Amino acid sequence: MIFDIRKETLPREEIEALQLRRLRDMCARVYANVPFYQKRFNEIGITPADIKTLADLRNLPFTEKQDLRDYYPFGLFAVPRENIVRLHASSGTTGKAVVVGYTARDLENWAEAAARSLAAAGVSHLDTVHVAYGYGLFTGGLGAHGGAERLGATVVPASGGATRRQAMLLRDFGATALCCTPSYALHLWEAGQEVGIDFKELPLRTGVFGAEPWTEEMRHDIEQKMGINALNIYGLSEIMGPGVAMECVEAKTGMHLWEDLFLPEIIDPVTGEQLPPGEVGELVLTTLTKEGIPLVRYRTRDLTSLDYTPCCCGRTHVRITRLRGRTDDMLIIRGVNVFPQQIEGLLMEQRVLSPNYQLVVDRVNNLDTLEVRVEMGEHLFADEIGKLQTLERTLQKNIKEYLGVTVKVRLMEPHSIERSEGKARRIVDNRPKD
Ligand code: ADP
Ligand code: ZN
Repeated sequence: MIFDIRKETLPREEIEALQLRRLRDMCARVYANVPFYQKRFNEIGITPADIKTLADLRNLPFTEKQDLRDYYPFGLFAVPRENIVRLHASSGTTGKAVVVGYTARDLENWAEAAARSLAAAGVSHLDTVHVAYGYGLFTGGLGAHGGAERLGATVVPASGGATRRQAMLLRDFGATALCCTPSYALHLWEAGQEVGIDFKELPLRTGVFGAEPWTEEMRHDIEQKMGINALNIYGLSEIMGPGVAMECVEAKTGMHLWEDLFLPEIIDPVTGEQLPPGEVGELVLTTLTKEGIPLVRYRTRDLTSLDYTPCCCGRTHVRITRLRGRTDDMLIIRGVNVFPQQIEGLLMEQRVLSPNYQLVVDRVNNLDTLEVRVEMGEHLFADEIGKLQTLERTLQKNIKEYLGVTVKVRLMEPHSIERSEGKARRIVDNRPKD
């Protein structure tokens, strides 16, 4: 179901005309109201009036996460504090938190974007939506909540934690859609197993999963275990929260990025130059309607590509392909770049393993080492030593062939790797900080 047929199927020329108008308006607002942007524009020697076409975007300054930190907490806000009706902060996965503020209209637009996203997943006012993203400063919980309410669905604001109890609530309230991180979905499923709840027998049929990287292989595993359609949702607090982009259930390939609200670019993360559609690089987003904290060319550090090919669902908004990881999560192991998802994909090919894994990085004799810890599935018995060793060697060989890096694979007892209630912790870096 399309939530807003007019906005979501706008012809490309109309999307672009709208984007240009909104871009100019937004730049005029930040130039007038945010000293940081006025200074940046002046340094480059341009004014908002110089923006004549969308191609001029490439002349505008970038905004980086560090800028938000430097101006902590409210230095980049573009409206007086009395107009801010809510504050959120990023979960701080990669350092000090950044703070964002929303006006009443920002919250309305966010709820609409999240509602469009849920609708793209096939969720409607007839559904019961169980939100197990954390509620609080993290945008996940309230973001999904606002979208589900806007749709007119029945919302269960479960938040994270008390996982067994949540599995029971899922059963008792008959939720048909579940919003959480993919790793928490698996955690919920496991908790369900422990208390004798088979997700396949529940009315649950849709998962709206995001906030952390995951692979196609992980999707298949979750879908098969839970008997649902698992769809990918993207968002980040700096830009809004969950619902910046969402996969449609019809195509299930790539996430429609709501282009009337956000203007995307892909750049080479090293040179900062724009890359053509189809090429993988860093996603840069410019907010087009945001009032509280509008951002010009925000460098997300997330790696993806843009797909402008028409989608069978009828939506015309560009799709971003499954995220390859965030540049912060890239490990450099003896000169080789490694993203956790690449390893995840290889682990998940082995059906006998559980999807719980962790990468432990260390430094031994000045060399970086990577140990891949992965839990055995319930049906693999730790007493079959020979089999386990063969499996470890196979995985080491596959990783070496695919990524060109030598790692040590260690099969772990079931349930020995910590479970997260939000974003999974895939990397444990024990290297000394230099
Ligand atoms: P933090 O930077 O503290 O994690 P957020 O909670 O705002 O802050 O998380 C946003 C980040 O989460 C994104 O920049 C991206 O790296 C990651 N993310 C969100 N959705 C997805 C997704 N569907 N796939 C991969 N990564 C995602
Ligand atoms: Zn589509």
